[in-house]
Amino acid sequence: MSANILDGNKIAAEIRAETAVAVKSMAAAGMQPGLAVVLVGNNPASEIYVRGKVKSSEEVGIYSEKHTPAADVSTDELLGLILDLNRRDEIDGILVQLPLPAQVDSKKVLLAVDPAKDVDGFHPMNVGFLSTQRPGLVPCTPAGIMEMLQRSGIKIAGQEAVVIGRSDIVGKPMAMLLLNSNATVTVCHSKTRDLAGVCRRADILVAAIGRAGMVTRDLVRPGATVIDVGMNRVTDREEFQRLFAGNAKREESFRTKGSVLVGDVHPEVAEVAGAITPVPGGVGPLTIAMLMSNTVKAAKMRRGSRMPELSRA
Ligand code: NAP
Repeated sequence: MSANILDGNKIAAEIRAETAVAVKSMAAAGMQPGLAVVLVGNNPASEIYVRGKVKSSEEVGIYSEKHTPAADVSTDELLGLILDLNRRDEIDGILVQLPLPAQVDSKKVLLAVDPAKDVDGFHPMNVGFLSTQRPGLVPCTPAGIMEMLQRSGIKIAGQEAVVIGRSDIVGKPMAMLLLNSNATVTVCHSKTRDLAGVCRRADILVAAIGRAGMVTRDLVRPGATVIDVGMNRVTDREEFQRLFAGNAKREESFRTKGSVLVGDVHPEVAEVAGAITPVPGGVGPLTIAMLMSNTVKAAKMRRGSRMPELSRA
């Protein structure tokens, strides 16, 4: 048996198209949604992520602006920038690209973002809204996974869901979203006893660990839906062999680039799972699509009361 591949690029394109329609009607009502991205310093990975976010904003018609404080910025200077963005009415979403440099108090900066503009959904107020099932802004990666499950017709209510990983940005909100959709949820982490035994109970298994190919076939119940959040770059030849021996396409890529992108799920799992997300092309594209969707949601929630027709859009 070979798993049904859940195509993140296709679902992300659907979400972007729907978002573009919503943006158009809001812009026609004189309210183009706006996103401000704050990128501190010169972290190459962060620069790539931010470029993707700005490009995606342009494509769906969201106004976007980029703020690039120097790597030696102080916490107070960053707080000043956030407060200024909080005050500006045309900015609906504020995204502070993480990680911030060591001298900056990241928690203080994230706490300063107006919860109504917190399109990453990291503010404790939005975390509370999620856990008490009130309307709010939900972190993009887990929100995208829920879209993927729902749009792929995968049953959630009453199902056993296991989430490996308990980070604030993926694991915990993922578990809460699945619970809110009536799954029976177990959260695993580095201290979990009998990880394989717990994972084998899952109808839906979400891996958000950050370890290349850690979820092997013995952790997966045949027919389960497997969501691979991990994004790991493998450069070691032996590790590459463990994951992709005999895969000519990946071999070629490894030889020319010197590395490959791998999820937390071993490729062999595709032979037992019922459905699985690929890496790349699975969860990744949904994260940016949900950022666009969250910016529109923030604009509607914050400004919609002034334009009643928008809260119905
Ligand atoms: P994180 O903050 O490092 O959390 C990793 C979690 O995995 C922790 O809860 C940790 O447990 C758990 N863990 C580590 N080793 C384990 C083991 N041997 N057995 C069981 N659990 C273990 O990572 P994250 O930010 O959630 O990200 C996870 C992965 O997703 C990374 O590869 C990241 O690059 C990727 N990611 C992808 C997207 C996307 O858009 N596709 C977005 C965000 C993140 P403890 O809590 O006990 O330490």
